Amino acid sequence: MKNRVPARVLLSYTTDYLWDHLEGDFILVMDDGEIETNEKEVLYSSYVWDYHRRFPNTPLLLKHHVKAIIKDDPSGTDTHLDLINSVLWSFVEAYRPDFINIEELIDIGALMSYEVSNTMYNDLTYRLEPDVTTLDILDFIQFTKHPRLVKAIEQMENTDEGVAKVNNVVLELSKSAEFKNNAMASVMRSKIVSEGQALQCLAPLGFRTDIDSDIFTRAIIKRGFTQGLSSLRDSMVESRSAAKALIFSTDPLQKSEYFSRRQQLICQNVRHLHRGDCGSTHYVPWLIREERMDNATKLASDLKTLAGKYYLDEGTNTLKILKESDKHLIGTTLKLRSAVAGCNHPDPYGICEVCYGATSLAIPANTNLGHITCVAMMSVLGQLILSTKHFEGSSAVEGIALKAHERIYLSAVVNGSRYYLNERLMSCKVKLVVAASQVPGLTDISLVDDIETLNISRISDFDTILLMVEDSTGIETIPLTVSVNGRLSNMTHELLKHIKRVGWTVTKNDNYIIDMAGWNFADPILVLPMRHFNMSDHQQEIADMLEATIKDLDYRSNVVNPCNMLVEFHDLVNRRLSINLAILEIILYSSMVVSATEEDYGLPKPWTSSGVGVKQLLLTRRSLSTTMGFERHRDVLTDPLSYTLTNRMDHIMDPLIMPELLNKL
Ligand SMILES: [Zn+2]
Repeated sequence: MKNRVPARVLLSYTTDYLWDHLEGDFILVMDDGEIETNEKEVLYSSYVWDYHRRFPNTPLLLKHHVKAIIKDDPSGTDTHLDLINSVLWSFVEAYRPDFINIEELIDIGALMSYEVSNTMYNDLTYRLEPDVTTLDILDFIQFTKHPRLVKAIEQMENTDEGVAKVNNVVLELSKSAEFKNNAMASVMRSKIVSEGQALQCLAPLGFRTDIDSDIFTRAIIKRGFTQGLSSLRDSMVESRSAAKALIFSTDPLQKSEYFSRRQQLICQNVRHLHRGDCGSTHYVPWLIREERMDNATKLASDLKTLAGKYYLDEGTNTLKILKESDKHLIGTTLKLRSAVAGCNHPDPYGICEVCYGATSLAIPANTNLGHITCVAMMSVLGQLILSTKHFEGSSAVEGIALKAHERIYLSAVVNGSRYYLNERLMSCKVKLVVAASQVPGLTDISLVDDIETLNISRISDFDTILLMVEDSTGIETIPLTVSVNGRLSNMTHELLKHIKRVGWTVTKNDNYIIDMAGWNFADPILVLPMRHFNMSDHQQEIADMLEATIKDLDYRSNVVNPCNMLVEFHDLVNRRLSINLAILEIILYSSMVVSATEEDYGLPKPWTSSGVGVKQLLLTRRSLSTTMGFERHRDVLTDPLSYTLTNRMDHIMDPLIMPELLNKL
């Protein structure tokens, strides 16, 4: 018979005291139930219960016990954070009525969370010293010599699937009873090393790519880092992935950080988050989609990224908070409160907390809302670009990888998504042959004046194209693959414009022939739809959608519906990342303008018109202190509009240029 111990009694002792007096297995009685536990689990949890010790009205619940976080898994690198998070919000809920100013309460909770995790770090590193273990080569060899793994590698097929199968054997072994005391398996189970990194040591490396994303298809590496790469060929092939990581840590990272800087300057215009409800009746309609596969990419349910948003429950005509567990809402179209649809708060530089969402509690007082949301998204992107090498799994390459015979006719940028005609063909007569079934929407191009307004994915879809190339030696017809992992490519706007200009001829067997004479070889002919393995490309696509160029101005300001664009923006970003909609809304809202054609670049409100601006004008038509903190100083200083346009937003950087404004902010 195990002892029953009331958890509240333990609260009257410090964790220090409990270390010396708690022993063995027992049943712990929490406020809302009982749990079988032991001294280790309770000691771990007890650090976080400092919240309850200091603020005894906080309920002491089963979910505040570490077991609720880890279930049957070992504790991992995030366990204490998850536990603190769970307790923190129970504390906030319990003490909310006592505080007029919610931000003050959250500040106290946040400070506690810092102190708790710091105490855990200091105390546990010291107390657990005798339990520190080491890894040694025998832990690795137990894997690599295991008969199941040896057999799996022997029978491995030289394909992506073949490598994936062997990887699975390693993962299964790491979780099996046989490997319970293996230190390597243990760090894998507690996620101290990432799965991908462990697999590179324990399983064959598989396929590698060159820095231009060309896959070494015939050079599969059948050894992992534990055995070591003993052949010159393997070493040379593997060295390319290090080269690739090096490339990604320079140019793409710089690009990403510069994008981040531009966006910060623009986003900082949304300065304030106001407590209370503005009472807006403007909504973004949103169809809640469940978890789904799109080609080879697994997309998360909308519930995950929309959690915390307020929606109108039309039955009761009240606002409700969307929760990740609200599975019954899947398939319904909700009316979401959103800054993009329109917040009634009179502050031209701010929105209310209800239009933002319940996650507004995570925004500390006196914080620039635009800046914090911008950084929340951009830091994730930057981190992922930086860790390219760790993400470079064996089977996950999705960028264009041209084979040798294709490179004679086509070219593509490193890991890119656009196909170009090879410049070598400039001296030949080139014709493009496509089946009518591949271009169902081609006739649409004669119906519109501005090709740019067409959605290219509705016009055409190719997995292969035919090129007819005529030079002095004769005519040859070459079929070329233009799809990647099931992603079919589309004709670019440039190509559609070309076709609109030169027209096409139809053959007897229903093929269209397009003469490429006069084609600008610097333009891409085909583009893969917006789906990327590569974070640098992903960053570029996000930048393209958000910033656009001046030639898109009219279209963005007058045609684009911001609510539709919000859905597109959400889908694009969250193909690879997981960013809450509230954050994306503020980023998009900061790029929205009252009217670009009327030179009013203020943030739109429900009583004004609204459109989406383009980056360059957002910087030069709002406060000029942003452009002074950015680039093109001469252009701005010599542009007459810098002096004649006076209807401008203020910016928090204004006092840097005009210090006398400091008191006005
Ligand atoms: Zn509002």
